[in-house]
Parts: sequence; C-alpha cells; structure tokens
Amino acid sequence: MSFISKIFHNKEKKFNKIKVDQEVLNSVIYYANQAYPNEFLALFDGKIKDKILYITSLIFLPGETGNSGAVFHSDMIPPTLKYWGTVHSHPGPSAQPSDADLYTFSKHGLFHMIVCLPYSYQTFKAYDKYGNTINYTIGNYEHLNKNDYDDFFDEDDILDDNEILKPGLLDETDEFNQEFNDF
Ligand code: ZN
Repeated sequence: MSFISKIFHNKEKKFNKIKVDQEVLNSVIYYANQAYPNEFLALFDGKIKDKILYITSLIFLPGETGNSGAVFHSDMIPPTLKYWGTVHSHPGPSAQPSDADLYTFSKHGLFHMIVCLPYSYQTFKAYDKYGNTINYTIGNYEHLNKNDYDDFFDEDDILDDNEILKPGLLDETDEFNQEFNDF
C-alpha cells in the first residue's frame, strides 16, 4: 500500500492517485488573476474511478470572487454539497498553507491546492487534509463530467503519469498570463 492510499484509506473514499483536469487549473489561474491582489477560493468537484481521484471542476462559493478576499465561510456550503477539497490563491510568493489554511484543510475535504505568484501551473502546490504535500498529475479529464461512458476514452493516452507538464501546456499558460499582463 502506498503512502497516499494509507492517508486516504476510507470506506467510501479510496484512491491512491490524484489527477487534475488542466481546465480546472486554467480556471483557478484566471480567477486568481481576477481576484488579485485578493485571494480567490473555490471547492473541488470530481469523482473517483479505478482508485483515482479526478478533479474535474470547480464549485464557486458566493462572495468568494470579488474584492472581499477569500475568507472561508463554511456556512456558505450547503450541507448536502459534495466536494473533494479546496483551492485558493496566495497573492504572494509562497504557496505554504497558513495556520488558518491547515484548519480549513482538516475540515473541508481530502485534497487541497494553493497557487502563489506568478499564477501558473508551476506555482500550484497540493496538500492532503493534514497539510502534507502530495503528488498529482495534470491531464484532460473533462469528459468525466459529461457522462459515465468514459471507458470509451483512455485518459492515459492524453497525458501519461510521468508527463506532468508538456511544453505545449507551458506555452498555453504563458500566453494566458500574458493576456492578463497586457490587461
Ligand atoms: Zn492560504
């Protein structure tokens, strides 16, 4: 049993790998830039398939994208809402979780990310609910949102586990950031 599966071992929620859709990260980068110099915060939606946790979309909380900062109002989360964790931006050079972040991690899911300046794929850090850094890979998993026929797709064809960042993805991010710099 690997380190991660030990941490996440749980009757309902069992996975030993995490894969994050690149569009989810693109959205976080977009909204983090919009919220700057304040923080942006959202929840992670996704699903487990074959013991892999796929993060496939964001759940936005009311009031979190404006100029009010990313104070985590857990009373804004409907009690029936299912989510896997949180993501937020740090408008500074460090993606280390604060004490408040560690508390949020422990209460609100299993997988958490922080992105720091300059917002890009490279400045994301991922944490488990205890604040330990964990590994993840980036790919294209949007089809998992749309239907349950995903066996027609082999997501491993799109991005291998070892290929976290392809040059194409980096270029895309640079362009993306450039847009905001120009703005
Ligand atoms: Zn934070």
